Amino acid sequence: MSRVYNFSAGPSMLPEEVLAKAQKEMLEYGQSGMSVMEMSHRSKDFEEIIEGCEALVRELMHVPDNYKVLFLQGGGSSQFAMIPMNLGNKNKKCDTVITGQWAKKATAEAERYLKVNIIASSADKTFSYIPKLDNSTFSKDADYFYICMNNTIYGTKWNTLPDTGNIPLVADISSMVMSEEIDVSKFGLLFAGAQKNLGPAGVTLVIIRDDLIGNAMDICPTMFNYQIHADNKSLYNTPPTYGIYIMKLVMEWIKEKGGVAAVQKINEKKAAILYDYLDSSKLFRGTVAKEDRSLMNVPFVTDDDELNAKFIKEAKEAGFVNLKGHRTVGGMRASIYNAMPVEGVEKLVAFMKKFEDENK
Ligand SMILES: *Cc1c(COP(=O)(O)O)cnc(C)c1O
Repeated sequence: MSRVYNFSAGPSMLPEEVLAKAQKEMLEYGQSGMSVMEMSHRSKDFEEIIEGCEALVRELMHVPDNYKVLFLQGGGSSQFAMIPMNLGNKNKKCDTVITGQWAKKATAEAERYLKVNIIASSADKTFSYIPKLDNSTFSKDADYFYICMNNTIYGTKWNTLPDTGNIPLVADISSMVMSEEIDVSKFGLLFAGAQKNLGPAGVTLVIIRDDLIGNAMDICPTMFNYQIHADNKSLYNTPPTYGIYIMKLVMEWIKEKGGVAAVQKINEKKAAILYDYLDSSKLFRGTVAKEDRSLMNVPFVTDDDELNAKFIKEAKEAGFVNLKGHRTVGGMRASIYNAMPVEGVEKLVAFMKKFEDENK
């Protein structure tokens, strides 16, 4: 077996301990005589899995009691429609900031149902920064204010949240969930597709404040209504059972590491190793405004496309894979989610140094 260092933006690396445990339990989970994949979602064993999964989300993210934790399907992208259909039924209005492709897609979807007021955009500089906002430009009657908190493609993160007062703040945290502490009480709704930091593709975690549930538009499909899923504890229909099980194992792994705060320390260390080198390198440079840098997704370039391609090719041969940047940015991107060990980043930087020496 030869496992590589996988810097994919998603689906991405999972902790090896988690995969090993899943392997061990593949043929028989506990005393059940079957795999989790073969279990009824109404069975006692699965009930314990999904309840344990919810309890871990609540514990690790310190979710207040007046929030529901839901495990849905349809990816982060379905949330782009669910949010306006459920939260935008009062004034049919929301505010947003365009910080990249995912915010753009969410906006296009919301515009099918609502009037979307774009407060600011960082499109002018290829989304390499988070715009500074002027509160006085926010809509007074918006049903919610939407942001993409960590921009997977461009490697920016909102390090200071917009002050929206009583207007619920809604955030896409797909690529940063449980990578650092987040104060859930500051948000009306948080969501994350699991495949970046929590498990395999197929589960979407939604954390929603109670008062935002129960006001869906009439046109809202049953499966897109948060109320249906909240009332049925995410068991209205068959949920992605195996994905939920793996997500639980991933969270047990986070808990064993000391929880989100402890994992955040490790993530800060990993990011610092890479950013410090990028700041000192004469060949490579980061592409993002320093104060807006993501802990999870680190885009970087040399100023020569051929050299970028050469680097990606040689890195792959050396066991560092999926380092190609998004086509809209070019260059490279290292996604260093929770499961990427410190050693993986140290070795990548050592490889980059060697490449820099050889290509002076
Ligand atoms: C990957 C990603 C999405 C899309 O998620 P899907 O599960 O593929 O729909 C949305 N937002 C962000 C920030 C992402 O990184």
